[in-house]
Amino acid sequence: MADIRVSEIFTSIQGESHWAGYPCTFIRLTGCNLDCTYCDTRYARSGGELIAVDSVVESVRRAGVFTVEVTGGEPLAQAGTPELLGALVSAGHRVLLETNGSLPLDEVPPEIVVVMDLKAPGSAGTYKGNWRLREPGGQTFALSTGPFWVQIKVQAGGAVVLPPWPLRQQGDTGIEVFALQRLLRVAGEDLEADGNFGPATKNRVQHFQSTNGLAPDGIVGPATWPKLIVQVQAGNTSQAVRAVQELLNAKGGYGLAIDGIFGPATTNAVKDWQDDHGLADDGIVGTQTWRSLVGE
Ligand code: SF4
Repeated sequence: MADIRVSEIFTSIQGESHWAGYPCTFIRLTGCNLDCTYCDTRYARSGGELIAVDSVVESVRRAGVFTVEVTGGEPLAQAGTPELLGALVSAGHRVLLETNGSLPLDEVPPEIVVVMDLKAPGSAGTYKGNWRLREPGGQTFALSTGPFWVQIKVQAGGAVVLPPWPLRQQGDTGIEVFALQRLLRVAGEDLEADGNFGPATKNRVQHFQSTNGLAPDGIVGPATWPKLIVQVQAGNTSQAVRAVQELLNAKGGYGLAIDGIFGPATTNAVKDWQDDHGLADDGIVGTQTWRSLVGE
């Protein structure tokens, strides 16, 4: 694997792009091909530490955050960056790349969400704009830069990368535990939904697993969630709808009434959540939307 020069790796809240507000681990690579007079990351233009790509991926894994951004400096100024991006995707992350738009994106894997911090013609510094962007597709818009207009195309974003199904087991608490308990009730298991994964919940999970051809380990993970979820949509009334409403409120702040009735307000909230997460906004909570809701 290639080595790559890294200025810093840290976890914070994403402040830009479609994923603003989400926890994010940032990998700031060293070096830049430009010299903007207003640069606020001059410390990243030199120095840093040469680290093997797999060690960088391991550092990110230890941070335990799904969304990762590779930034700089200018990350594409290093030859090993496409390899790093691919390794992060293979490790199961949603990966953003922040680039200044002056270097080709040909080697960037298609799963990457490109955040382009364009340096427009007329901006302070030596660089006046190259405007090479990945083609084709995307939306067209125009920038006014004083006496002339520049029309550019941007790619709408990378392919949808869903978060992994979360692991929940005895001792866990929280909104995902509420959801799995409600789904167990829909499946006919007799238990209370209290948000605490205690012995009774483990017992019901094991029973559900046994009757659904799964290893009865009592752990709700990538094998059990897909069997547990049920599709819900407008007109449905159930504990599963209640779980969807609770997840939307907890993770999206929608303020829905928790009544278990899939009405217009719930439909609108689901569509909004789907749109925000790159999913088809059909208002139907199927496998992808469930995974997005419990996994984020
Ligand atoms: S492209 Fe970004 S990192 Fe590079 S000099 Fe300009 S502002 Fe600084």
